[in-house]
Amino acid sequence: MDNTSKSMDKIVALCKNRGFIFAGSEIYGGLANTWDYGPLGARLKNNVKDAWRKRFIQERHNSFEVDADILMNPRVWEASGHVASFSDPLLDCKECKMRFRADNLIDDFDPDAHADGMTKTEMFDYIKAHSIPCPHCGKHNFTDIREFNLMFQTFRGVTTDAKNVIYLRPENAQGEYVNYGNVQRSMRAKLPFSIGQIGKAFRNEITPGNFTFRTIEFEQMEFQTFCQPGQDGELYDYFKEYGKRFFEDLGLPGDHLRFHDHEKLAHYAKAACDIEFLFPFGWGEINGTHNRTDFDLSRHEEYSGQQLKYTDPFTNETFVPYIIESTYGLDRTVLALLCEAYDEEVLDEEKNDVRVVLHLNPAVAPIKIAVLPLSKKLSDKAMEIRDTLSKRYMCDFDDTGSIGKRYRRQDEIGTPYCVTVDFDTVGDDVKPADNCVTVRERDSMEQVRIPISDLGSYFSDHFDF
Ligand SMILES: [Zn+2]
Repeated sequence: MDNTSKSMDKIVALCKNRGFIFAGSEIYGGLANTWDYGPLGARLKNNVKDAWRKRFIQERHNSFEVDADILMNPRVWEASGHVASFSDPLLDCKECKMRFRADNLIDDFDPDAHADGMTKTEMFDYIKAHSIPCPHCGKHNFTDIREFNLMFQTFRGVTTDAKNVIYLRPENAQGEYVNYGNVQRSMRAKLPFSIGQIGKAFRNEITPGNFTFRTIEFEQMEFQTFCQPGQDGELYDYFKEYGKRFFEDLGLPGDHLRFHDHEKLAHYAKAACDIEFLFPFGWGEINGTHNRTDFDLSRHEEYSGQQLKYTDPFTNETFVPYIIESTYGLDRTVLALLCEAYDEEVLDEEKNDVRVVLHLNPAVAPIKIAVLPLSKKLSDKAMEIRDTLSKRYMCDFDDTGSIGKRYRRQDEIGTPYCVTVDFDTVGDDVKPADNCVTVRERDSMEQVRIPISDLGSYFSDHFDF
């Protein structure tokens, strides 16, 4: 199936019915743009984190993980520029009172207009010149464009006055930047070195969001590489490619990924590029790589009064390090994997037999092996096998319904292997036990019979994670 011919409605329904993703606070009617990961979604998400951690922290030299607090000193967000300029350009329809993002109105009107390169005034003039109508009521009578800060604000303590304002972090990066000196000293790190972090961030966006693609609370896997000025260009190119390879190895094919170089750069960036994935609803960003120069550490030096320079141990040269940032949207990566894996296979056209299957990379599949007794009478033996395998792999056990239906249930959640225990496995008064089971592979649906004692080596040969 082509990704663009897949139905988001069917993918959303599968996610809900099979325990991947539920609407947030569903029994209260939900909360717009919030989603909860169910048992299988949480496993899938954790498997993606594990794969990222292995690739970015474990396998790399000079790479350190931190786990910084979501709440930070509000001065951090003054230094980073978020208090002054982290906002969406919004306007209201004076007729129906609906609120819109000016850049979205323009992009929806003409995708080639590139609203991301326009100033507030240019956007307003464009909307006027082209008489772009209100998407809700069709009239053309908008307010001026105003900037709304995207940070979630709250108050520390009992008084809600300005001096107690704190923010939920809108990005993870600052947690890595403010700890640059701590990590460098405690790890005796020499440039170039990297700090990675997996964690939640929050943005008070009004744009509705294509399932989990755009949400107000989301998780990022961030990787910041501190380097000498002059090394930045090469590292920037390197991390663009490194990111694409990571996605390919997770199971997103190269022709469903593309680079999108930014024309208009954020205030801190010298170069910026997204990796986009072809979702059923079109291309969408799943990674961003930025050359942030020495902007961040220079600003934190200025605002904190602390010295954040690096002295090269060989040349004794002292300077503020440059930063190459590569950020991976965890929720978006999970959504991309689900959309890519989703497939409807026609097995028998006459009987209208269609198999829904998730071709997930086994490394990220929530369940690795399902153990299925052919009859409930065989459950004890099957449970024994499940208990052994579950010491190494996340396993499922299912003894209800026909074996065919149980295979299909596992196909729908992307389980790479099913192990079936039948009457030959345990034998009876007449026939001795053969102590073998049938192993069925998800994608080929091929079955092999192997001794129970070989299951351990069979799976360690077939799983390479
Ligand atoms: Zn309107």
